[in-house]
Amino acid sequence: MRRVSRREFLRTTAALTAGTTASGGMLAACGQQGALASPAPGTPRVRRMKPLGKTGWRVGDISAGSGQRDPALVNHLFECGLNLIDTGAQYAGHEEVIGKVLPKWRDRVFILDKWDPPLVTATVTKAALLEALDVSLKKLNTTYIDCMMIHSIGHPRYGGLERIQNPAIYEAWDEAKRRGMVKFTGASSHGVRMIEELEWGIDNNRFDVILVGANFLTRGIEPTLKKARAKGVGTIAMKTMTIYKSDLNVRSLQNEQTNARQAVLKWVLASDLFDTLVVSMRNYDQVAEYLAVSGTTRLTAQDRHYLELVKAEVGSRYCRPGCRACFDACPRGVPVADILRYGMYFEHYGDQKFAMQRYAAIPVAHRPSRCAGCSAPCEEACPYGLRVRARLDETDHQLRFA
Ligand code: SF4
Ligand code: SF4
Repeated sequence: MRRVSRREFLRTTAALTAGTTASGGMLAACGQQGALASPAPGTPRVRRMKPLGKTGWRVGDISAGSGQRDPALVNHLFECGLNLIDTGAQYAGHEEVIGKVLPKWRDRVFILDKWDPPLVTATVTKAALLEALDVSLKKLNTTYIDCMMIHSIGHPRYGGLERIQNPAIYEAWDEAKRRGMVKFTGASSHGVRMIEELEWGIDNNRFDVILVGANFLTRGIEPTLKKARAKGVGTIAMKTMTIYKSDLNVRSLQNEQTNARQAVLKWVLASDLFDTLVVSMRNYDQVAEYLAVSGTTRLTAQDRHYLELVKAEVGSRYCRPGCRACFDACPRGVPVADILRYGMYFEHYGDQKFAMQRYAAIPVAHRPSRCAGCSAPCEEACPYGLRVRARLDETDHQLRFA
């Protein structure tokens, strides 16, 4: 059988992607204030625009996550019609990379930025938050950020509900809005207590936009998302592509000329729970691959088949964002979800350095070495059947000795 090249395959997939709507979706990519310049022939395109809550923006159904190190790639994202990009102070150098090209695109691109999670505490001051905002503005080479978020709400290691109830956050947001430094505000989370903290913010009208870890293997966040949308809060999915980096990781897909990653993205698009999703695009092939499914409104039988295959093979290894089922079961305070997420950054995102730095910040007293002699009640508590202790062991080894 003739081998299909990767580029050829991506082009074919773009053309044949079933369930991709044309009517009402094949829009020229345009931001809030004007159409983008005509792209070069063959440039991948965003095919569907959707309102982002009540912000007045229409954004592509697929948006860019962080991870680009080359300004030319960021420029390419915008040329493809992607008009929302996710960044944050904690993604070393990413704000600066965007800043190299942002002036050219400024009124057509929605910048979603986040304070570094450890900065935002129950006692942080308004002055410290505004100072950090200033630093981000300088790096981004702009005078305003479209949406400034509190990052990692619901992560116990950064504090509980009292953290996001700190009035200084809202005073800083109000002042930043008054001074035109920020247009909208919100919160992001994949933490174990994300649902209750998101609910607090939504009920108290604190957030214009929320960014939430979700994909076809997660569950539980849906009522919160529906409530957010009913109140006009913009909803964005992240951690959509956390399952695996390559079909080659899934034995049952190794001989198929397919791309199950696209089915994973299509699930988010077809769920209609989100205004857009962010996915990390680190090279030109990934941009083409992911934009090939822009416009999807339903899953095909083949998509469902691929999702089942992935679930069968990966589902019992994947720690779900926002899950807290084993959190209270551990008598030794091991932050299972955090450790397994750092493992995911290492293994699937290729962010080895970032993952190892994050892991190094976990006190030794809460590392998996504490699991020795434990009867592992975490495994009984896990509704997804993860062999938690073995996963922790593997991850610890990976993050300490890589
Ligand atoms: S095996 Fe480790 S993570 Fe699981 S409950 Fe025991 S100490 Fe906690
Ligand atoms: S190991 Fe299981 S129970 Fe614990 S956070 Fe992950 S998915 Fe939830």
